[in-house]
Amino acid sequence: MTTPIDSAALRAGLIETARAMNRRGINVNKSGNVSVRALSDEDGRAGFLITPTGIPYESLEPDDIVFVPFGGGAHRGRRRASSEWEMHERVLARRPDVSAVVHTHSAYATALACQRLRIPAFHYMVAAAGGDAIEVAPYKTFGTPELADAAAAALAERNACLLEHHGVLALGKTLEKALALAAEVENLARQYVLVRGLGEPRLIESDEMRRVIEKFRTYGMQPAEGDAAVIPAKPQEPSPPERWCTASGATVACTEKVKVLSENWEEARSMMTDMFEDAVLLGVSKASFRQAMHALVDSLECAYEEKKE
Ligand SMILES: [Zn+2]
Repeated sequence: MTTPIDSAALRAGLIETARAMNRRGINVNKSGNVSVRALSDEDGRAGFLITPTGIPYESLEPDDIVFVPFGGGAHRGRRRASSEWEMHERVLARRPDVSAVVHTHSAYATALACQRLRIPAFHYMVAAAGGDAIEVAPYKTFGTPELADAAAAALAERNACLLEHHGVLALGKTLEKALALAAEVENLARQYVLVRGLGEPRLIESDEMRRVIEKFRTYGMQPAEGDAAVIPAKPQEPSPPERWCTASGATVACTEKVKVLSENWEEARSMMTDMFEDAVLLGVSKASFRQAMHALVDSLECAYEEKKE
C-alpha cells in the first residue's frame, strides 16, 4: 500500500468524507473527525491529514486541513488539529494496513457505548468490522493519550469499535471504506437496539460467523482493489425501448422510468449513495461501481432517446 503525497485532491476527499457524515446523519454537531494517511508535500515525512477543530464541515477549505507528522513534531497548517488527533495517530501507527479513520458520536452506537453494550453477532453484517462482535473500548477522557491507547488496543485486530461514554471509530483502506463502515456500525446499532426491545437477542452460531468473516475477507481481497470489475460491465448495445430492464428486473417503459427518476432525484441519489457504500464494504472498487452506474444510466438514456424519435 503506497501512501499518497499530501495534495489538494486528498484534502478535498477528506472534506467530502466529513460532509458525507452529515448527509448520512452519523455526525452530531462538530463532534466527528476524519483522518487519512499522507506524506508531507514539503519533506516527504510520513503522517496524516486530519479535520481541524471547531469548524463546520460545510465551510471547510483544503487549507483548513492539518498535517500531523508521525512520531511528534509541529502540526502543519493554519488551523488547530481535531482534539482527537492523538487517537487517530495511535490507531494509524498500530494499523499500517489501513489508511483512513472516521470518528463519530452517532446516536444509536453511542447509546450502546454509554451502556457499555458491545454489538454481538445478532446480524451477519457485524462481521464487516472484522470479528464476531463490535467491542467497547473502556472509557478514558476525550483528547487524552489514554483514550488514544485504549482505542488503538481495541482496533488492533478489528476495523471498528465503540468508545465507552463517547462514540465510534471505524477504519478503512480508503476514506470511502472507513465512512461506509462507520455508517454500517450505526445501522447495526439501531437494529440491535430494536432487537433488544423484542426480547433476548438471538445470535448467529460462532461457526457460521467464522464462515461469514472469511467470506468478507475473501470479498475484500478481490482484484476489486484495482480496477478489475466485480460488477461486470455490460456490453452496451442499445436495447429496444420496451424491453430494457437493467435496474429492477422489471419491464418498464423508459419514459416513465426517467420521469420517476427525475421527480425523485434526491431519493434516488441517497439510494445510490447507500448502494455505493454497501458495494464498498463488499470490496467493490469505486471504479467498478462507477462503471456499472454509467452503464445503467447509458442504457436509460439510450432507450429514452430511441423512444423520443
Ligand atoms: Zn469524540
